[in-house]
Amino acid sequence: MTDSGFGRTQSLVRPAVLNPLFRPIESLKGVGPKIGEVMTHLLDPPGDGPARVIDLLFHLPFAVVDRRRQPGIAKSPNGTIVTLKVRIDRHQPVPRGSRAPYRVFAHDDTGEVALTYFHAQKQWLEKMLPVGETRYVSGRMEWFNGRPQIVHPDHVVDEADFETMPLVEPIYPMTAGLTRRVLLRSIASALTDLPRLPEWQEMSLRREHGWPDFATALRRVHRPDGEADLDPASPHISRLAFDELFASQLALALIRSQRRRSPGKARKGNGKIRKAIRDALPFQLTGSQEKALADISADIRKPERMLRLLQGDVGSGKTMVALLAMAEVVESGAQAALMAPTELLARQHFATIEKLAEGSGLRIALLTGQDKGAARMKLLADLAEGEIDVLVGTHALFQEDVAFRDLALAVVDEQHRFGVHQRIALTGKGTATDILVMTATPIPRTLVLTYFGDMDVSQLTEKPMGRRPITTTTVSLERLDEVVGRIGVAVKAGQKAYWICPLVEESEEADAIAATERAKHLQRVLGPTVGLMHGRMKTAEKDAAMARFRSGETRILVATTVVEVGVDVPDATIMVIEEAERFGLAQLHQLRGRVGRSDLPSSCVLLFSPQIGAVARERLKAMRETDNGFRIAEEDLRLRGEGEVLGTRQSGLPKFKIASADVHAALLPLARDAARLVVAQDPGLTGERSEALRALLYLFDRDAAVRLVRSG
Ligand code: ADP
Ligand code: MG
Repeated sequence: MTDSGFGRTQSLVRPAVLNPLFRPIESLKGVGPKIGEVMTHLLDPPGDGPARVIDLLFHLPFAVVDRRRQPGIAKSPNGTIVTLKVRIDRHQPVPRGSRAPYRVFAHDDTGEVALTYFHAQKQWLEKMLPVGETRYVSGRMEWFNGRPQIVHPDHVVDEADFETMPLVEPIYPMTAGLTRRVLLRSIASALTDLPRLPEWQEMSLRREHGWPDFATALRRVHRPDGEADLDPASPHISRLAFDELFASQLALALIRSQRRRSPGKARKGNGKIRKAIRDALPFQLTGSQEKALADISADIRKPERMLRLLQGDVGSGKTMVALLAMAEVVESGAQAALMAPTELLARQHFATIEKLAEGSGLRIALLTGQDKGAARMKLLADLAEGEIDVLVGTHALFQEDVAFRDLALAVVDEQHRFGVHQRIALTGKGTATDILVMTATPIPRTLVLTYFGDMDVSQLTEKPMGRRPITTTTVSLERLDEVVGRIGVAVKAGQKAYWICPLVEESEEADAIAATERAKHLQRVLGPTVGLMHGRMKTAEKDAAMARFRSGETRILVATTVVEVGVDVPDATIMVIEEAERFGLAQLHQLRGRVGRSDLPSSCVLLFSPQIGAVARERLKAMRETDNGFRIAEEDLRLRGEGEVLGTRQSGLPKFKIASADVHAALLPLARDAARLVVAQDPGLTGERSEALRALLYLFDRDAAVRLVRSG
């Protein structure tokens, strides 16, 4: 098993009452493997498995269609949704070779309507709309040349079915390959099977806020009576949002209390390796690097476990800090691990660190998913013997057969791609392992509590000396040729440029094609100095593309956002981002941070589509005006709200499906206090309410915390 090894084993201890909710989605009637796959894509469940019933239930509607209007055919205004009770008169099939639609004519007391279908099957229509029978038809009325018609009615039902048809229909986020009917039916079926769950909230809190119970709240959102039922501030949605925040705060509180109860080990280095590394550095550490190192040293020396977040803008020198921290525990006779979210980054970290530590005596090795057979065996043996001091790798480090002799410090880069599960899994690799999490995503201060409530935080706020600021400009895509021309000139003069193509489609494949097209285009105009890198390429191909760009064989690298995280080619000085308005600000900031990494002046060109709106303009303006990641993050939060800032697709931070920072911010401190109270009174979760609280943690996939308490 890849991932954490935690993924699916928890079913052993999951409260049985939750089983109906954790069945795979395919267990619902009418959901086969194909629909199941499409739904999994839409619902994006945690881990690698298929979506579960609970994922579907947490997929909330964002609007309603009101079908209660039944004005009669002649009185139905153009463009409105109506429901009509009609008698079917005749079918007018498509004449051979014609492109005309299939029409079915029907009437009521007020007039005649045409039900219009394109590319429909005759047999199917004859069965659904039999001549001489009465049917209820609902859809958008269109007056075309003075005649009323409904093109592809949303619903056609007989009188019996009309009795049970909801006239206020919730509208959900959709994806290709899924019909509304199928989604509605699946959700209805999931709601029918909703088990009676024990209450995990305090009754007093519910009374105070007028919150219904969990099941009632869920039913209400999925069977709304009108637009008002979808108001995120309504009592029933607030209840669900609070549940979600409470689950996350409870998990964090449990982890924190567990950490307090499981003593760490006090370690102290003699400074030798660190001195060797520092002496060889061609630069001085910045003040905030020194401060972070002092924080970390103090933690390492304490007999408690460290759990610290090292937050620093791109290029602020986090890797340097990590290396010196690792050197300290190695000096004390122990080992350290550095984990990166992708193989590319793991390799890069390995190369960087190896170079920085040259001659210091640190023995560093790399382990990725690619390592197999005898070489891997040898490496694992060396690791277990303590012949390796620092192991760099991907999540391959989580695998069960990876055993350290004495793992004292685990550094996790870009932790939000791993999550709490893995953090705990890694801690299991050593007794009393200290954890340092590095993130380059500037997380607004207001959100740090939400995601990292259990961690201490060090921030790198200064840019290393010698860095030149990056000049950022915004240019309309209409001036593409001009930009290409200027890049051509710059490249001839010896510069290197990234050209980023956006993730537009929901598919990596389509994005890869777009990037390939752009690379071809640039190559036609500028010649053979253009390289290409995208998510559909194999690791070796990506590595090769990167190596060619690094060596200067290619001078322009067209890429999708695969270069976002951490890629380091110091002499690249131009960053072009196409359709920049499609990216989150934090992501733009990350991308921009790929340049400005040397003492050469760098520039960033944000290409935008001519028709972008006001908010998008403001966001790009913010990019032009500041280079401070934290400021940018705050600004993004203001303009777009939490989910967007953290760019769910890219960030992999634990997702909040229901709670949102802008609407439910006031609930967060309440949730934190409630969670702290639980942990203070019942740290082992064994009391009266514990069964319900465990159920809550499972429902919101915070169950790693449950296992932590059990094993602790
Ligand atoms: P981050 O991981 O925070 O993005 P890195 O640790 O990769 O940043 O550092 C980026 C570059 O800056 C590296 O080439 C590194 O050697 C260099 N660097 C780190 N600290 C300093 C410093 N204090 N002064 C000058 N250069 C530094
Ligand atoms: Mg880095």
